Amino acid sequence: MTDYPHLLAPLDLGFTRLKNRVLMGSMHTGLEETGNWNRVAEFYATRARGGVGLMVTGGMAPNREGGVFPGAAGLFSAQDIANHRTVTDRVHAAGGKIAMQILHAGRYAYSPECVAPSAIKSPISPFVPKELDEAGIEKQISDIATAAARAREAGYDGVEVMGSEGYFLNQFLVTHTNKRTDRWGGSYENRMRLPVEVVRRVRAAVGDDFIVIYRLSMIDLVPDGSTWDEVVTLAHAIEKAGASIINTGIGWHEARIPTIATSVPRAAFTWVTKKLMGQVSIPVITSNRINTPQVAEQVLADGCADMVSMARPFLADPDFVAKAADGRAAQIAPCIACNQACLDHTFSGKISTCLVNPLACYETELPITPATPAKTIAVVGAGPAGLSAAITAARRGHKVTLFDRAECVGGQLNMAKVVPGKEEFAGLVDWFATMVESTGVALRLATEVQAGDLDGYDEVVVATGVRPRDPGIPGQDSPNVLSYVDVLQGGAPVGDTVAIVGAGGIGFDVAEFLAEDHSPTEDLQAWLEEWGVADPAQARGGLAPDGPHPAPPARQITLLQRKAEKLGRRLGKTTGWIHRATLAMKGVKMIGGVTYEKIDETGLTVLRGNSPEDRERIMAQNVILCAGQVSERSIADALGAKNGKVHVIGGADVAGELDAKRAINQGVRLGASL
Ligand code: NAP
Ligand code: SF4
Repeated sequence: MTDYPHLLAPLDLGFTRLKNRVLMGSMHTGLEETGNWNRVAEFYATRARGGVGLMVTGGMAPNREGGVFPGAAGLFSAQDIANHRTVTDRVHAAGGKIAMQILHAGRYAYSPECVAPSAIKSPISPFVPKELDEAGIEKQISDIATAAARAREAGYDGVEVMGSEGYFLNQFLVTHTNKRTDRWGGSYENRMRLPVEVVRRVRAAVGDDFIVIYRLSMIDLVPDGSTWDEVVTLAHAIEKAGASIINTGIGWHEARIPTIATSVPRAAFTWVTKKLMGQVSIPVITSNRINTPQVAEQVLADGCADMVSMARPFLADPDFVAKAADGRAAQIAPCIACNQACLDHTFSGKISTCLVNPLACYETELPITPATPAKTIAVVGAGPAGLSAAITAARRGHKVTLFDRAECVGGQLNMAKVVPGKEEFAGLVDWFATMVESTGVALRLATEVQAGDLDGYDEVVVATGVRPRDPGIPGQDSPNVLSYVDVLQGGAPVGDTVAIVGAGGIGFDVAEFLAEDHSPTEDLQAWLEEWGVADPAQARGGLAPDGPHPAPPARQITLLQRKAEKLGRRLGKTTGWIHRATLAMKGVKMIGGVTYEKIDETGLTVLRGNSPEDRERIMAQNVILCAGQVSERSIADALGAKNGKVHVIGGADVAGELDAKRAINQGVRLGASL
């Protein structure tokens, strides 16, 4: 008897059967654009071997003008079809099923060639789209149908027509972006004509025995978005036009409400999909912030959907389904929804991978092979770098001993996990602990290691991490001054007025920790109110008419940095705005361009210019130092001279810009190479 009877139940689509209710949602990895089709095929085949019921590829452009950026991949030539055949053959050989997503970006295309229902620039692209005429609209529909036919020719089991997230089809549906007065605009019947016609023509192009998924925006989260009646009307029409499955889209890309970040509660939007259940007779898929088999099972058991889509969790662990099915759920590497190595990479033009699993998209580049000969390896430091090195080396057959002076594993991750909105880090620490045990790493906690203790090992990995940087501000020894470690780990009491020195990732974390009494991430209703999300049946697009209602701040906080730039500018590309908006909602005062003059019992004195008149007093019961970190290298330095087999990784190697992504990546790569 499985713990996941709903999740692992097959889904019969009539002409074909999916082996379970798990869809790997579409992700743009950047792999297709490398032209290395063996690498693309291995990425998908690895996930097919891991047991997922159906996968959807990253978005493929139906034509040049619809590509997300110039040169975006699509099926334009016989060679393209042959390349994709490599992928589908490999997936089928691995026992999987795969559908190709057809993505027309419309006005979201980062290209001067972009087209849309109306010539209205989006806030997330610098280009004003060209308004399509009748012939132009026909061309787009025809190109999408042709892309579907080519997908079939390339061996795909189906297509997903991307109709949500504010892309081209979605742009026709709402008056926010469709100001047309012809038969493609005006009434809702006219506005939905294009998406419905697309599905009808796609179905006609591919025949009856081919999966056609339509990704439908259930809650737009933008002004003048769809009403719930419109959503249901569209769903009916899409079903009638020939779709086999309706998948859920949540929020346009330009929405100012987070929809997938780690601070979004788990399964935060499944209640929206649930409203459509029973309204259509084809299966409905739900999505967003579902990252464990337990949550996915509950969503299905609660009748929120017929199937669950998870995307990033399959970067974190390709064997998600197989591990859930054979009782190893605790070994599933958790997606912590950080976006740091997936979406942040995509938006920086880099290949996606995963903070938790650097092997994602590097299946062919970074193979984990059995170790010959097996060696004895000591790893000092059980933070993310040391844990990753230890686990990877042990997986390969090395005999690994992992030391830490702390009483638990996780290092700095244990500080992240107490920050409101970062609760997922707790799951990551638990996963590391599970993997240490299951790979047979000998764990020596509460053990202070000296360089001399490490003589007998074949290899020594020093992952001793970082310690807080001393900012050297006069008066910083005052009793009201705390470090971020005192606050996040030591549980030091903090007063009602606070000044934070340093506005990097940790300064922001500490500000969020001190601003919230309760984490809204743990309380869906509070989170929806905080961000102003309403039931789309009550408010168009799901935007609360009276806007966000954040809980009052727990403290009065001033966040400071010396750089004269916007605070938080260097935070994650896709998540920095959420941290800034969260602190703004809590009334946190952000001041850049300061020089710290002195600290005393009543607060902090800074200069905001070059003359004494620019001096400012910031009254604060506590001043908290978050001024970055320096490497903890005492063991590395002691060993360096006497042992050539010493490897220094993570913060002990380079402290600047250290984050868990770099630490884990470096640890896994070292573990794979020893
Ligand atoms: P950080 O990002 O390097 O920030 C250090 C802060 O301290 C900066 O605001 C810096 O600003 C200030 N600072 C540096 N030297 C100083 C000095 N001598 N006196 C006073 N202020 C000084 O380091 P962190 O905040 O400790 O974070 C460590 C790493 O963890 C970073 O890579 C960070 O990205 C990562 N992290 C990421 C997240 C996330 O949300 N993605 C969260 C937490 C941590 P000025 O020099 O302008 O004063
Ligand atoms: Fe999930 Fe972060 Fe990995 Fe992306 S990088 S898949 S969000 S854990």
